[in-house]
Amino acid sequence: MPTYEDIPRPIEWITDEDLQVAKAIRKWVDEEVWPNRHKIDDDWEHHEIVKPIMKTLLVDIGYQRGVWPEDVGGLGVDSCVSFVVGAEEIARGDSGMCTAANCVGWPFLHICLPHHRNETLIKKFGPLFCDTDEMFIGCPAITDVSSGSDVENVDATHGKYITTTAKLDGDWWEINGHKIWCTNSGGFADLFGVYATTKPGEEDDEAVAVIYVPADTPGVTQGKPYKKAGMNADLNGDIWFEKVRVPAENRAQGPGLDAEYAREMISWGNVITGGYALGSMNRVYEILLDWCEHRVVAGKQLKNHSIIAGTLGEIMTMIEAVKSDTYCKARMLDRPDLYGPGHSKGMLAKTRTTKLFSTDALTDICNWAVDLMGSYGYALEYDIEKVWRDSKIMSLWMGGRSLCRLDTTRYYFNSTEI
Ligand SMILES: Cc1cc2nc3c(=O)[nH]c(=O)nc-3n(C[C@H](O)[C@H](O)[C@H](O)COP(=O)(O)OP(=O)(O)OC[C@H]3O[C@@H](n4cnc5c(N)ncnc54)[C@H](O)[C@@H]3O)c2cc1C
Repeated sequence: MPTYEDIPRPIEWITDEDLQVAKAIRKWVDEEVWPNRHKIDDDWEHHEIVKPIMKTLLVDIGYQRGVWPEDVGGLGVDSCVSFVVGAEEIARGDSGMCTAANCVGWPFLHICLPHHRNETLIKKFGPLFCDTDEMFIGCPAITDVSSGSDVENVDATHGKYITTTAKLDGDWWEINGHKIWCTNSGGFADLFGVYATTKPGEEDDEAVAVIYVPADTPGVTQGKPYKKAGMNADLNGDIWFEKVRVPAENRAQGPGLDAEYAREMISWGNVITGGYALGSMNRVYEILLDWCEHRVVAGKQLKNHSIIAGTLGEIMTMIEAVKSDTYCKARMLDRPDLYGPGHSKGMLAKTRTTKLFSTDALTDICNWAVDLMGSYGYALEYDIEKVWRDSKIMSLWMGGRSLCRLDTTRYYFNSTEI
């Protein structure tokens, strides 16, 4: 019988190191995540079960060292394909853990990717993640309480509606604002990548600033985690910044460049979200494989009823299409020499389609899977209900389905007024 590994992906782009990490993650999923899978959502507030499991992934397997260059003890992963391979494996176990783990490093793409490394900040922050036996947690603090989309809608709003402010006072930034929903907040984060404006209310890419703020800086407060419909292995809460002062050097790149690389960060986030969706689809496939083999109705296995077989065929077509597209876009981000830089409007649009298509496909597939399982699909112990609940948020974050469609049309149709 085939397994999810037989669903085609371009193996010539996947390195031996990627496969080794994938193998270690699979073992972790089998031994630590799955035995605890029914307890994770109830652990939404204190993470008593989740934290030790996350520690194995982040520290023992080394995921928290991923983006950091080797000269500060990191793994030096600068390939989007590698991140998709990892995301597929983690999300097969738990997409909330996948979100939390990937967001540890995501805000540091701004300073770690090879074509725009910030050596000062790499030396300052890299060892905190790499030279330790404890978890050290990054958090992309983008969403303002006023709106998440307005911050991430870089090419329409140019920072105009960002409400978190950064004011330069000598050699220090003073930061004020209120963020919400950010992955790994809720008291877990140690270091925030804060999106702020240096010119409140102005439409100016130069005013968009990404500034790193340690969580223990005076004036930073993290609220309690929210209880969500799913994905509770990811903690989300309020973060308040009140007269928070950090050194001027903590700005990722500088005027103009922070906005430019924000676009790149979103492009990577789009494709890696495709990886989360794929991991969840792999899980759905495994559940259905087992269910449709063993469930017998009207005297034969479910998979041998033509109407069910047709649905299964459609599900596999969707999974194959998402897999091909996600790996293709990841490879394109890995080869800017061939496809243009990750911060280009073209790559933003082409990866937005990946996020929109892959996450919608996941929600559709989960819906079909629940149908195929009848009432058992609605029961905790049959596992599909958790994937179903977790799936929806993937299309909501990073500006939701609207920003995916807007950025795509902006590029392909040169729509200048949206
Ligand atoms: C599990 C989880 C993890 C998250 N992780 C992070 C994280 O790591 N960092 C972070 O900063 N945030 C994070 N978020 C927040 C998330 O990214 C935001 O909620 C999301 O970007 C949408 O912002 P919003 O909720 O403020 O909705 P709004 O911005 O108010 O948008 C509401 C609706 O309007 C649509 N819309 C927005 N602008 C336009 C427009 N110009 N035209 C037409 N329609 C538009 C949107 O698509 C959406 O449907 C997370 C949220 C969750 C639940």
